[in-house]
Parts: sequence; structure tokens; C-alpha cells
Amino acid sequence: MGEDKFDVIIVGGGLAGSTAAYILAQEGMEVLVIERGNYSGSKNMTGGRLYGHSLEKIIPEFAKEAPVERRISKERFSLLTKDSAVTLEYAGAKTGTPGCESYSVLRAGFDRWLAEKAEEEGAMYIYGIRVDDLIVRDGRVCGVIAGDEEMESDLVILADGVNSLLAQKIGMKKELLPSQSAVGAKEIIQLDAATIEQRFQLNPGEGLAWIFQGDCTDGRIGDGFLYTNKDTVSLGVLTTIEDIDGKETTIPQLVDRLKNHPAVKPLIEGGKLVEYSAHLVPEGGYSMVPTLYRDGVLLAGDAASLVINLGFMIRGMDLAIESGRLAAQTAAAAKEKGDFSADTLASYQQALEDSFVMKDLKFYDGYEKVMEDRRLYQDCPAKADRLFADLFVVDGSGAKDISKKIVPDLIEGLENYNS
Ligand SMILES: Cc1cc2nc3c(=O)[nH]c(=O)nc-3n(C[C@H](O)[C@H](O)[C@H](O)COP(=O)(O)OP(=O)(O)OC[C@H]3O[C@@H](n4cnc5c(N)ncnc54)[C@H](O)[C@@H]3O)c2cc1C
Repeated sequence: MGEDKFDVIIVGGGLAGSTAAYILAQEGMEVLVIERGNYSGSKNMTGGRLYGHSLEKIIPEFAKEAPVERRISKERFSLLTKDSAVTLEYAGAKTGTPGCESYSVLRAGFDRWLAEKAEEEGAMYIYGIRVDDLIVRDGRVCGVIAGDEEMESDLVILADGVNSLLAQKIGMKKELLPSQSAVGAKEIIQLDAATIEQRFQLNPGEGLAWIFQGDCTDGRIGDGFLYTNKDTVSLGVLTTIEDIDGKETTIPQLVDRLKNHPAVKPLIEGGKLVEYSAHLVPEGGYSMVPTLYRDGVLLAGDAASLVINLGFMIRGMDLAIESGRLAAQTAAAAKEKGDFSADTLASYQQALEDSFVMKDLKFYDGYEKVMEDRRLYQDCPAKADRLFADLFVVDGSGAKDISKKIVPDLIEGLENYNS
């Protein structure tokens, strides 16, 4: 390192940034992370369930030391009308087997832990400072500008989240269109651990992930979510920006709507609201991912639009961690070669293409069009309600013939899936 020059400057100490910092420091590189929050995680939000596989590769058995909340052992998916819920619950043994674990997390504690791990390895962090611009000479990114200060490096990794104004400034990314992003609002509601375990029928330490579609978004494209933490519940609603316009209910009102739904209200009764947050999510899928490298710069995590939202699951954190890992590996190879040009850094995009990140994004490419089908949010919950009422409600007016059709159809559907 020259006097004021780092090998790598990382903008953003979220999961993508701190993963990259951890690995670069282990490689013995001089790495500086600049995080605008007062600590890592202070400005970050997620639903949140972390699929553990990508971090497991970097810090094996990380859940033994990391501040994870609960290991998810139960999945629920509900179709909601105003006063009914059709719910599917899955509690398969596979969710807990090595490599398949997922955990509820709260970012304020989790990101801070990961940043501290990176600092222990030798990464340097500066908190409470926003990077305003990049130093660009002859088309090559050479460092960052924060207020009056300029800091130089061979490589800058932009891990600055969904908007990445810095990537926009140097033309690597366009401003998100309303159809390419969603906004999520979330409440953290305190309940003691025993109450959570009793109400959600969980063993100590185990957790539930619950996704809702229908009434909670009031006809908008999106979903509701609930994750059980140690002694809190994370509950919120996510809907596309495009769909906010022209609707009377606000996002906080949608969160209230979910909280007051008869399927949810008794489960959080007596809970105390301890935190409220809102955040954007990139929603455009594979086709929205820009070119992720240029002379002296790489994009990682949400800044690179690496998020998969399928309505029944949302994944961004495991992708952010993997992209941070691959960005760090690319940087280490570039240092070895003494070349941080776009030609060398192109191997990052290829490494991502070869990884689960782009493979999964590509697999679901175009799925956002499926989610734009409004029948999912209005007609389907209403039809499911009518179907289950016909199956289960007996009012003496004569039996419905429906079960004779539903059961054979279900068997045929499952057979087709498995064949
Ligand atoms: C409502 C909601 C629910 C979600 N649910 C899930 C879920 O259940 N599971 C899942 O896997 N994913 C989920 N996601 C997505 C997931 O949270 C993100 O993909 C993930 O947080 C991306 O991590 P990151 O490190 O790339 O970005 P971020 O976590 O956004 O970190 C970016 C960091 O950069 C800092 N920063 C930004 N600009 C600057 C600057 N100019 N200077 C200095 N610092 C800067 C920020 O303060 C922040 O710390 C959800 C997202 C939302 C909004």
C-alpha cells in the first residue's frame, strides 16, 4: 500500500461489503470499508430469513457464533381474503439438514457481527461517512470522495445497496424504474420466547417463516411476511413501487391490515412494537442485472440487483454474500496479476454466471411477469376460500360434490410433479 492508497475500498458495510472485506483481509490485502451508518446494519433491513449455504462456505458453522435468531423449521403460506385464510404448512426434515438450514435474522446485530469478524481479520472500517462520488481518471475508477476527503485504491467494490447512486453516477446502472423495484415496510413486535413457541407451535430455538398473499396488499402486486425471532416477530408487507400510485391505502396501512387479519391478530396479541423500518428491493430479475465490472470497479449484492422475489420466497442475502465472496476472490487474483483493468475483472461476472447466483436468477427469469398476474392477489384467494368452504362447511343444505373431484386432481397433480 502506498501512503494513502488501499488495495481495495468497499463502499457499504452490509452483507455483500463485509463478506468481501472478510475474505480480502484474510488474503492479506489492505482493505477499507466505508459505511454511512454509525455501525454495520444500523441502516439495513430485511424480511428476514437468511439461507445459510453461502455464508457456511466462508465461516463453517457460523450459526454457532453469529447472532441468528431462530433456525427455521416450519414454512407457512396463506391465501388471505378479508376474513379467511387458506394456509399450507410445511415442516419437512430436509429444511434442517446440513447445507439446507435457514435462519431468521435481524440486521442490526447480524451485520455488526460480520463486520467485526472482518475487522478481526484486519479490515479497516470507517463509520458515519457517506461516499459522495468516485475518483475517475482516464475512465478508470481510482478511489472515492467522501465530503472533502479523497481516498485512493486499486479497486473499488460498490456494495452500497439497491439504489447504488455511485454506480449510476459512473453510468454502470440506470435509475430503477417503478416496475423494477418494490418497497417493503416492517414492524418488529416484541413477545417473550415462550409465548412465541407456544403460539406458533415451535420447539425452543426453532422458527417459522410465513408468507401471505391476497388481502394484505389490497389488490396490489406483493406479499406479506412474518418471521419469528428469539423474542420478537418481524411482520411486514412488500409491494411494487408501480403499484403504490392511485391506491388509497398506504404501505403502513397495509402492515396494519396484516396485523389485524383474523389469522394473524391472535398470534401477536399483547406484543409491543419496538421497531419500524422501510426499504427498497430490486425486483427486475436476471434481465435487470447490469455489467458488473469496469476498470477499477466491481458491483456486488443489491447494488448489482442480485435479488430473487418469487412471492412465496425472497432471497437477496445469500446472493449478496456469494457475490461479496466472488468479488473478493477476483480482487485477490487481480492483485496477484498487478492488473485491475476491466479485462481482468471480467472474470467476476463469469464467476457469478457459473455460481448459483446467476443460475438461479436465470432460472426464474421472466417470473416477475407471473407475479404481475393480479388474479394471484384477488381472484385466487377468493376462489380458494370458496373451495375450502365447500369442502368443510356443513349447513344442512345438501353436500357439495366437490371432494370427489379435488382429491383425484390433487393425486394426479402430485404424481405429475414427481414424474
Ligand atoms: C422488506 C424486505 C424483505 C426482504 N426479505 C428478505 C429475506 O427474507 N431473505 C433474503 O435473503 N433477502 C431479503 N431481502 C433482500 C435483502 O435484504 C437484500 O438483498 C440484502 O440486504 C442486500 O445486502 P447488501 O449488502 O447488498 O445491501 P444492503 O444491506 O442494503 O447494504 C448496503 C450498505 O451500504 C451502505 N451505503 C449505501 N450508500 C452508501 C454510501 N454512499 N456511502 C457509504 N455507505 C453506503 C448502507 O448504509 C448499507 O449498510 C428483503 C429486502 C426487503 C427490503
